Amino acid sequence: MDCLFCKIANKEIKGDLVYEDDEIVVFKDINPVAPVHLLAIPRQHISSIMEIDKFEDKLTAGILKVISKIAKEMNIDGDGFRVVTNTGDGAGQSVKHLHFHILGGRKFNWPPG
Ligand code: 5GP
Ligand code: ZN
Repeated sequence: MDCLFCKIANKEIKGDLVYEDDEIVVFKDINPVAPVHLLAIPRQHISSIMEIDKFEDKLTAGILKVISKIAKEMNIDGDGFRVVTNTGDGAGQSVKHLHFHILGGRKFNWPPG
């Protein structure tokens, strides 16, 4: 499958990885919009959270646990951080491989733009 994030997870394309295990990869966003801007992805390709039923529950929980662990390691948990998964064109999803943005290191407004 011709998928950018599959290729980063497989190391066919270079990514700035900060975490990986058998199921999950976390890497730096190439165009950061915050001092800390990481992307957490499953190695398994699904296009968005709308296909989450294809995952075992332990993988769904595992991604959230990794996000929590990375937030602590990056020291963004104290001031607060944001986790975003844009879903579909209307929300601005540009890469159709499920990913969670982990954003930290600055103040975030609500509601988002
Ligand atoms: P989306 O717009 O789908 O929510 O988020 C996709 C994200 O992927 C964007 O923040 C974009 O900057 C990032 N991105 C796009 N291409 C690459 C790439 O080749 N490498 C990395 N590390 N990030 C990318
Ligand atoms: Zn993919």
